[in-house]
Amino acid sequence: MKSAPESLCNDGWCLNRKIVDERAMLAFGKSVARVLVPRLVLTLSGDLGVGKTTLARGVLQGLGFGGLVKSPTYAMLEPYQLDLGAVYHFDLYRMSDPEELEFLGYRDCLRDAYLCLVEWPERSDGYLNKIDLEFSISSEGASRIVTVRAHTHAGKIINEHLQNP
Ligand code: ADP
Ligand code: MG
Repeated sequence: MKSAPESLCNDGWCLNRKIVDERAMLAFGKSVARVLVPRLVLTLSGDLGVGKTTLARGVLQGLGFGGLVKSPTYAMLEPYQLDLGAVYHFDLYRMSDPEELEFLGYRDCLRDAYLCLVEWPERSDGYLNKIDLEFSISSEGASRIVTVRAHTHAGKIINEHLQNP
């Protein structure tokens, strides 16, 4: 795992985007979807209501999903079967013990997934052993600041594509 120091947060390992509204968040998600490669784990962090599910919705739409993207807050996992492969959308907010990831079949999901999206990765207590890209969202008035940190070389390549589309 590599992490970029805050001061370098605009190189390949880390980028910042200001997202002015929900539409822009969906569009940003779609731009992420356009540069994805198979088998990545993306985490989405930030306060309740900051836009994690909205960003995940944009990614799923960008991957060609035309249906309803529900928040997995209660089920903890919403699976999607897309032409590209399976996408698993986790929300660990209600998880009280990281062992629950085992019951959710996280390892199996990792094995066959095109993409894993994980909201509230903080709840997993380090159980998610491979994270390619970490999206952290914070509020700035009505806007959001999204910071994208790459933790693997595959993640870094995605970040570079996002920086130079
Ligand atoms: P989370 O999954 O982080 O709890 P959601 O994506 O479910 O958050 O909800 C985000 C809410 O914030 C939505 O109601 C959305 O309309 C609103 N919103 C306002 N501004 C933005 C923005 N810039 N980006 C994303 N969502 C925004
Ligand atoms: Mg959510």
